[in-house]
Amino acid sequence: MPDQLLIVGGGFAGFWAALAARRVAGDRATVSVVSREPILQMRPRLYEAQPETLGVDLLPLLGAAGVQFIAGDAVGLDVSASEVRLRSGKRIGFDRLVVATGSVMRRPPVPGALLAHSIDTQDEAIALDRRLAVLCEASPATATVIVVGAGFTGIELALELRDRMAALGNAALGERMKIVLVDRALVVGSELGEGPRPVIEEALVTARVELRLGANIMSFSTNAISFADGSTLTGDAIVLTTGMVAAPFAECVPGERDSLGRLKVDTTLRAPAAPKVFVTGDAATAETGGDHATLQSCQHALQLGRFAGENAARDLLGLPGLPYEQARYVTCLDLGRSGAVLTEGWDRRVLYSGDEGKALKRRINTQVIYPPTGLSAGALIAFSGTAPDDQRPPGAT
Ligand SMILES: Cc1cc2nc3c(=O)[nH]c(=O)nc-3n(C[C@H](O)[C@H](O)[C@H](O)COP(=O)(O)OP(=O)(O)OC[C@H]3O[C@@H](n4cnc5c(N)ncnc54)[C@H](O)[C@@H]3O)c2cc1C
Repeated sequence: MPDQLLIVGGGFAGFWAALAARRVAGDRATVSVVSREPILQMRPRLYEAQPETLGVDLLPLLGAAGVQFIAGDAVGLDVSASEVRLRSGKRIGFDRLVVATGSVMRRPPVPGALLAHSIDTQDEAIALDRRLAVLCEASPATATVIVVGAGFTGIELALELRDRMAALGNAALGERMKIVLVDRALVVGSELGEGPRPVIEEALVTARVELRLGANIMSFSTNAISFADGSTLTGDAIVLTTGMVAAPFAECVPGERDSLGRLKVDTTLRAPAAPKVFVTGDAATAETGGDHATLQSCQHALQLGRFAGENAARDLLGLPGLPYEQARYVTCLDLGRSGAVLTEGWDRRVLYSGDEGKALKRRINTQVIYPPTGLSAGALIAFSGTAPDDQRPPGAT
């Protein structure tokens, strides 16, 4: 009987782990993905209009690659029995496990935080879109949308909102409404560093996004935020973009964690305290070289996934693991009508902004993060290689 290589989580890391495992293990292992739904949610795009279109059906791709899909919510892990338990009660045995359960947004620990919208999942992004649609339909004389969290996602959402209203049929409301970006930090994009900040600040001014920085939130209601200084901000929609932590299933893996709940893995992405278990994507923290740890980002998840799947399969075959590496680090932030800003390196040097940056952002959002289409099963699986050359689309230079 072939060995069982099980992957929990069908996001960016889990999908590429499955293909890489299939490529390396061939017929010597059955590769299965357990996830809540066979949809790859395009989380990096959930600030955009039409969130209902931002998912990819994984069944044809996994099917073509010979990977089994099991719908289920994993709620338990027995490391000594090598079994994963699903909410349905079903138990699935494994010879090697890859945990790729990703991340969830961390809501602020204050009363009423659950009442606010978010764009962490496709369903939540759709719920926000419906709220915006209701506002467009009602077309009040004034409206306010408050975005809490002036990091990567909050900036992108705030700068997209006027055009979101236009896409929903009320461009005039989009122009006249007030948009407020709130953060406890004293600057926007505090984690993005100083390099891109002037470009971001200029874009926020151009888009007439009001800032409320250094804010200490005490509570939320459905339409208001109360601050520690006694003031209140009312809004027609309040959206949280307050950062991510590892999704709860990662807590089942024994070992040391960082402040985001991510498991600290070794260089081959193995859980040091559970040798048959590899952890990847947003659920793991790994060294990327130069004293930098991976970020909860799509670009890291895509590569971490490939390495975890490859190494889990190599381990089954008795081969040594490959040390995870990721040479290049870029960030590309959508600035709405002001284009986009692309930075390179951990010191985030601005390489492109404006229209040039926007063209790159569009390519990232519509091509780079999507599984390739129109390839034969063999070519699709080959795309799961860990070397940059393996991941280049056919014909690209
Ligand atoms: C709004 C937003 C904007 C972002 N923008 C960017 C960006 O511009 N650039 C960038 O690089 N990154 C961005 N990110 C981060 C990026 O989306 C994540 O880093 C990436 O999705 C991580 O991939 P992953 O496969 O590790 O996890 P995920 O994409 O979170 O996938 C995890 C999968 O596992 C499933 N799962 C979780 N728990 C269980 C369980 N117990 N049982 C079964 N299935 C389970 C989930 O349903 C999901 O399908 C953004 C994220 C958000 C939310």
